[in-house]
Amino acid sequence: MTKALFLDRDGVLNRELGRYVASVDEFELLPTVVQALKFASDAGFLLIIISNQGGVAKGLYGMEAVHAMQRSLQEALDSWGVSITEGYYCPHHPDHGLCLCRKPKPLMLQKAIARFGIDPARSFMIGDGQRDMDAANAAGVNGILMPSNGDLFEVISALPWA
Ligand SMILES: [Mg+2]
Ligand SMILES: [Zn+2]
Repeated sequence: MTKALFLDRDGVLNRELGRYVASVDEFELLPTVVQALKFASDAGFLLIIISNQGGVAKGLYGMEAVHAMQRSLQEALDSWGVSITEGYYCPHHPDHGLCLCRKPKPLMLQKAIARFGIDPARSFMIGDGQRDMDAANAAGVNGILMPSNGDLFEVISALPWA
């Protein structure tokens, strides 16, 4: 079984703006993200984004914008030989109906765990919100809470490498 680093998106990979990040123009990678993901990839972790994108349910942007943002992150990683394994996005919002996937529910993590044969006990979920930690705990993954827009390299380089 392999191990994975599950990553919240806004405030962890790109700047949390305090509002929905609606387009690739607003998707600003945080300064140490590329080095951080290179470090984790070299340590043998799959890199999997787990993100609530309720702005889709609200009609503020579409999934094509979400995918464009993931592509722009991947482009920044290309020259480092690092790949995002997969991104899981919940496009729902409770104002527009309930769903089974929105964090703090663990379904997006559980889907990834099943699909890629991941050992949750050797895996980590890094997020800047309590719902990230709750989703991690419910999936049996180690939750690491970091400050929003903090230094991801500092966080990852201090992890206990399982
Ligand atoms: Mg966040
Ligand atoms: Zn959902």
